Amino acid sequence: MFENVFSQADVQDFKVWMDWAERYVILTHIGPDGDAIGSSLALCNYLKDKGKTAVVITPDHAPDFLSWMPGFENVMVFAESPDECEQLVDRADVICCLDFNEVGRIEKVAASFLFSKAMKMMLDHHPFPGANWNLVLSHPEASSTSELVFHLLCALGDFRSVTTDIATCIYTGIMTDTGCFAYSSSSPSLFFIVGRLLETGIDKDAIYRRVFYSHSEGRMRLHGYAMCNSLEVIERASTALIALSDTEMKRFGVKKGDTEGIVNMPLQILGVKMSIFLREDRQRGLIRLSARSVGNVPCNRFASDFFSGGGHMNAAGGEFSGSLDEAVSRFRHGIEQWSKSDDPTISQLFKNKHS
Ligand code: MN
Repeated sequence: MFENVFSQADVQDFKVWMDWAERYVILTHIGPDGDAIGSSLALCNYLKDKGKTAVVITPDHAPDFLSWMPGFENVMVFAESPDECEQLVDRADVICCLDFNEVGRIEKVAASFLFSKAMKMMLDHHPFPGANWNLVLSHPEASSTSELVFHLLCALGDFRSVTTDIATCIYTGIMTDTGCFAYSSSSPSLFFIVGRLLETGIDKDAIYRRVFYSHSEGRMRLHGYAMCNSLEVIERASTALIALSDTEMKRFGVKKGDTEGIVNMPLQILGVKMSIFLREDRQRGLIRLSARSVGNVPCNRFASDFFSGGGHMNAAGGEFSGSLDEAVSRFRHGIEQWSKSDDPTISQLFKNKHS
């Protein structure tokens, strides 16, 4: 039932590092989500239990709904204390990069990461890994990076070191990256792993409530507004669009992370196979794209073809420099282009069959 995804040779380097390395830095991507924080804290807690010095550094703040996680209080935010973080990265023996596979995803942390003489490992489940690491553990078929942390601890022969705290972090990452086991979670071994996590005594119902039932009133109203006032269903393309300006979002006192989940909602409409969400990021002077799709519709290709982005087949992101209106035009142009495509994974959107 349970087969480790890593060969022993794969983890041998890490094992050898564990013998001599004392100082570990764990880096994860900008806009950290449940899997980024979950996998990072799981590994960090494990290393600390082993008597190592370990710290998680994120480029920017993680959302509040993750702040209850074991070890979260020690997460360092690069944007807040760049000098201290740079020093930690510089002095690290080993840097573990979790839940991303190209250095652009850590933005301002990238310079000190590339400069550091530490041994560098990547543990990740996104396709097309970059080449800045001594050790690459890349498994796009995995549900989440958190699942891969579990595999790593097992491969290190340390299954018994998975404490309730570590299991809580791993479960949170798996739960959030699979939309509560709705997608990317068809492998029997994943449920075997969840069984082992439950055996450590985690409270999965409490984890669910802490992550998903912790929204502000403003966020609820923003979601309602997006559905009621912004949603456009382009029936002939089996696609839905939501576009929100900075002004619209400010009306609801939107905080970081409050727009999360909006892009998934239109997929609940019968016949919608791809959902696109455009939102203005005035601070950074650009428009951000989130894309979601069902089945084998490659929304990551829509993101890369028209919004200089990419990601997984069913979940992708991108960006656009220009106004929100221009981004919407770009979207319409993209749909127009796609309507001429011969690629069956794309042309299926235009058959307008309910399935
Ligand atoms: Mn992930």
